[in-house]
Amino acid sequence: MSLAKYNSKRNFGDTPEPSGKKGAAGAKLTFVVQRHHASHLHYDFRLELNGTLKSWAVPKGPSLNPKDKRLAMMVEDHPISYATFEGDIPEGNYGAGHVDVWDHGTYEPIDEDGEIITPAAFTKALHAGNMKFRMKGKHLKGDFALVNMKKDEKTWLLLKHRDKYATDEEYTSEDYAKKSSLKYTAERNKDKVVKKK
Ligand code: MN
Repeated sequence: MSLAKYNSKRNFGDTPEPSGKKGAAGAKLTFVVQRHHASHLHYDFRLELNGTLKSWAVPKGPSLNPKDKRLAMMVEDHPISYATFEGDIPEGNYGAGHVDVWDHGTYEPIDEDGEIITPAAFTKALHAGNMKFRMKGKHLKGDFALVNMKKDEKTWLLLKHRDKYATDEEYTSEDYAKKSSLKYTAERNKDKVVKKK
């Protein structure tokens, strides 16, 4: 997939987000999870693959609890340079609101047996709608899966596999959000309360 869709949705004269160009692949595949308070709060889960960031919007955010099946809606590919983007997207722009990096690191694509596979094999897994990968982030560690629901191309589930990083405790991504993220959301909610009066 190209970055044409990403570029067509944005006016780079007005949003501080980076324009979309394909990036050179590094030695290791990277991932980023961005907390994005747009019209609704969600987490954008992005995996580097073939020079772009494959992207899913996860309304509830990722979880380390294997019982959680987190809805993940596939969205347009983002440029690799988006992985470090944080800040405010002005009103009137696509995704207007506030973006912070919630977690980032590297990942390894794996097969059913947990063996590392090539990006080419992982691309096939993407097209088959069944991706497994090992994450090395600050919050997200261990094995995860993204599974297409077969309802349509866009509807996926993000799942944590049972391993030493998994938890049976309730997991809330907001508990690990940056202070700046929570401050932004608190301000927005304050405005909402005022408007209702
Ligand atoms: Mn988003």
